[in-house]
Amino acid sequence: MSRFLSRAGSSLLPYTPGEQPQGRKWIKLNTNESPYPPAPGVAAAILAGYGKESAGAPPEIASLRLYSDPEERILVEAIAAHFGVKPEQVIVGNGSDEVLGFAFRAFCDGDAPLVSADLTYGFYPALCGLYGIPYETIPLNEDFTLDTKPYENCGKNVIIANPNAPTGLALPLSAIAGVAESNPDRVVMVDEAYVDFGGESAVSLLGEYGNLVVIQTFSKSRSLAGARVGFAIAGEELIADMNRARCSFNPYNVNRLSMLAAAAAIRDDAYTKECTGRICRTREKTAAALRKLGFTVTDSRTNFLFAKSGVMSGKEYSEKLREAGILVRRWDKERIREYVRISIGSEEEMETFVEVTEKLVREAAAGRP
Ligand code: PMP
Repeated sequence: MSRFLSRAGSSLLPYTPGEQPQGRKWIKLNTNESPYPPAPGVAAAILAGYGKESAGAPPEIASLRLYSDPEERILVEAIAAHFGVKPEQVIVGNGSDEVLGFAFRAFCDGDAPLVSADLTYGFYPALCGLYGIPYETIPLNEDFTLDTKPYENCGKNVIIANPNAPTGLALPLSAIAGVAESNPDRVVMVDEAYVDFGGESAVSLLGEYGNLVVIQTFSKSRSLAGARVGFAIAGEELIADMNRARCSFNPYNVNRLSMLAAAAAIRDDAYTKECTGRICRTREKTAAALRKLGFTVTDSRTNFLFAKSGVMSGKEYSEKLREAGILVRRWDKERIREYVRISIGSEEEMETFVEVTEKLVREAAAGRP
């Protein structure tokens, strides 16, 4: 900490991102990335015309000398076409983290606090700290399910991750509709980062509830975590409010190459479905193997599993996996410290993961009195 750090700066509670190791080859199951490459059209969109220009650079790369489109039309229009909404109902950001930031800045403050689950995405309280937004939490049930009753008529803005992270559990659309309907004077944000792995999207409710904001990402189902692209869909006025926040922060917030990549990715829905289908099948196979080994595994509708061993502590299990070259994520937090979150990798990676886990369980069980 320098002596220049402001009071506001020193009060921040930064989010700790998952590790991105360089060098040694890991089986990386710690940050919910896709094990599959982006859609074939993504490379084509970026490299189109390569070698045709005298300088040898593709036109898209040559165009990097220019700022990106502050209205982000190419991507906004591709997303709008995919979901069958108007372009005015879409905003894009540098990852959905940034889109969450625009929504929080636009809709929340001391007069409009935010409420969320106690066990959910840890970036929400970090953002609230940044913007000075009062943040309240409602405990999940003992089995990590979310009871929407306390959110109904709560008089506060609401954010619900659906499916939730790190628990993996999904709510039916009727539950989201109930929260939106009972809080007509507040904004209800639904973070659908994992919706393509078995959740139900609240985009279909937007026509009915003018206070809903649905936030999604290209980082998981569309294999573009490194491109950093997320988006929100909502009524036109809410999107205009979020654009106020965006243009007060960074009007050129999504770069040219990422916009091209994301537009190509969303146009290839067949590829997205092929990848998510494979990931869901691998998830179910891995969950069954873990249950057979005595793990408690939640009913995940995401590209990760949230699991607890019957014979090892969460700490021991994650450390031993790491020694074997496998990275998973764990939080030293009440109620979930015995759990690990395991991103679904390729079929081969998950076979290795299960083999290593089998060995660890055998060793742990043998070492017990
Ligand atoms: N929401 C949830 C629930 C997440 O788990 C993540 C990934 N860390 C995000 C949003 C943000 O993803 P991104 O910024 O890569 O779009």
